[in-house]
Amino acid sequence: MDTRALRHCLGRFATGVTVVTCRDGERVHGITVNSFTSVSLEPPLVLVSIARSARACELLAGRPFAVNILRAHQRDLALHFAGKPQEGLGIPWEAGRLAPRLAGCLAYLECSPWQAYDGGDHVLYLGRVEEFSYGDGEPLVFFAGVLGPLGEVEREVLARQAR
Ligand SMILES: Cc1cc2nc3c(=O)[nH]c(=O)nc-3n(C[C@H](O)[C@H](O)[C@H](O)COP(=O)(O)OP(=O)(O)OC[C@H]3O[C@@H](n4cnc5c(N)ncnc54)[C@H](O)[C@@H]3O)c2cc1C
Repeated sequence: MDTRALRHCLGRFATGVTVVTCRDGERVHGITVNSFTSVSLEPPLVLVSIARSARACELLAGRPFAVNILRAHQRDLALHFAGKPQEGLGIPWEAGRLAPRLAGCLAYLECSPWQAYDGGDHVLYLGRVEEFSYGDGEPLVFFAGVLGPLGEVEREVLARQAR
């Protein structure tokens, strides 16, 4: 299996972008995640797939978490929580009921831990949605390795294909 080609293939699935946040005592943690999926309405379940190599993987085990769905202008937050610290970035933490959240996102879902499953080099964490909120606005999207607002991603991808 050509893993690089497989990554390119999987990248043809356009997604939104989230930051998954949790708390370990006094410490809060966030990780950028695009593997967020809705699973069930009754009960209300969502899933995130987290690399075993990520610090978040251990932190999420048995803990509540929040899924913060990013807006188009929150690219810097996505990069920051993907391990590319952004100079001068203020992180808009706010207290949630179950887990810390990021203020100003397009939507958030606060989840209690439901179940974790083996996903090869990832762990699939299912959470039961206990609280959520959403607003209007443009999402941040990820497609073919390009991260940005819908229009920018479209322009960049078309320009790349024309080269
Ligand atoms: C678009 C996109 C989608 C991705 N989707 C996934 C996915 O679905 N699953 C997956 O496993 N990986 C995904 N990744 C990769 C993942 O985001 C990175 O590998 C990430 O760095 C792993 O984080 P970590 O838990 O190891 O923590 P770290 O690398 O330690 O932390 C991540 C970053 O967040 C910062 N940070 C964390 N907590 C705080 C805090 N309290 N205050 C300030 N800064 C903080 C850290 O400084 C660091 O820069 C994605 C990356 C991108 C760009």
